[in-house]
Amino acid sequence: MTASAPITQDLVTIPRKLPEGPVNIVGLTRDKLREALIEIGTPEKQAKMRVNQIWQWIYHWGVRDFATMTNLAKDYRAKLAENFVIDLPELVTRQVSADGTRKYLVRIAGGHEVEVVYIPEEDRGTLCISSQVGCTLTCSFCHTGTQKLVRNLTAGEIIGQVMLARDDLGEWPEPGVGTGDNGPRLLSNIVLMGMGEPLYNFDNVRDAMKIAMDGEGIALSRRRITLSTSGVVPEIAKTAQEIGCQLAVSFHATTDEVRNILVPINKRWKIEELLNALREYPKASNSERITFEYVMLDGINDSDDDARRLVKLIKGIPAKINLIPFNEWPGAPYQRSPWDRIEAFADIIYKAGYASPIRTPRGEDIMAACGQLKSATERARKSRKEIEAEAGL
Ligand code: SAH
Ligand code: SF4
Repeated sequence: MTASAPITQDLVTIPRKLPEGPVNIVGLTRDKLREALIEIGTPEKQAKMRVNQIWQWIYHWGVRDFATMTNLAKDYRAKLAENFVIDLPELVTRQVSADGTRKYLVRIAGGHEVEVVYIPEEDRGTLCISSQVGCTLTCSFCHTGTQKLVRNLTAGEIIGQVMLARDDLGEWPEPGVGTGDNGPRLLSNIVLMGMGEPLYNFDNVRDAMKIAMDGEGIALSRRRITLSTSGVVPEIAKTAQEIGCQLAVSFHATTDEVRNILVPINKRWKIEELLNALREYPKASNSERITFEYVMLDGINDSDDDARRLVKLIKGIPAKINLIPFNEWPGAPYQRSPWDRIEAFADIIYKAGYASPIRTPRGEDIMAACGQLKSATERARKSRKEIEAEAGL
């Protein structure tokens, strides 16, 4: 890493337990919830069962009030209410695009805001969630990258985005009526592709995704959760072992020279190192293909030579290449590649034997497309100079 490109991991997660006052149950892992219940006097022998009961109320039924947890004794419910809260981030606004995409502005503790996007498709509904307010990294084509990292989200704030979306979609089962297991889900997939670099907030992302995958709650299969990273190499093996979800990587360039500018973390971990880590991922996580995300920037990374180099580089890795037409934002230094260029690029990859879908931009009218997210109210902005210096432009 060069001295001019400091890439830091800011550890600024606010403590989950405030010095005074009740603990938020949302976001506690089963183990942490068990400990917390024992701390308030739950007999150790009962603790596991109480965790199960509370867990199901919160994550299966979507209940927000201890008083309605009818399979717990009344005085125990009162004790829970004295010591805990079931607290979600606040939904500030919801915008619905002409194509049905929904963008939520969500306020978290401290008054910061993140964006969450729901994308309905024929066979699925995908929620794109954020893991940080802003980002420490400075990918030069990404709107979030122009915003300083404000802080990491807690596990509760990460899973809270999923719970808020289920509230809005009306997707909690009605107690006594059904289990919610039947029929296709409105919210069937999660992608960690919103604001922030999830692997720089590893523990909270892991804890939140464990909750999303837990069979007695939100119960989404790990195959329906995709984590996208810019390439934080040392955390990739950990992701396989401790989360086991699908992995997407923001690849975007086929030479270190170009990738250093587009995805400056490449100065720290070069393409070859990244590919070595990716090669191990499917085996280690028992997952299928890795998704290579590739943003199409006019005249920058979209030549036939790039397509051919890409195919060579990923040889031997079970992969699909997701081509993302660049989504422009005010002041962006790039333009989207012309459509026939994107198609020609896709064709070369397809003929080499890889799926090469072109991602249709969704929710453009409400600035909900990939890379357009950024809270309008956030004042901590990187200056253009800072971005250029960090990107080595
Ligand atoms: N920080 C993570 C996840 C968030 S970004 C990462 O970088 O992977 C999700 C995807 O959107 C990434 O592939 C990112 O490179 C891409 N992206 C960012 N800005 C974009 C833009 N303006 N147009 C199209 N895709 C963009
Ligand atoms: Fe951060 Fe991802 Fe945007 Fe890069 S593309 S600045 S890692 S959010």
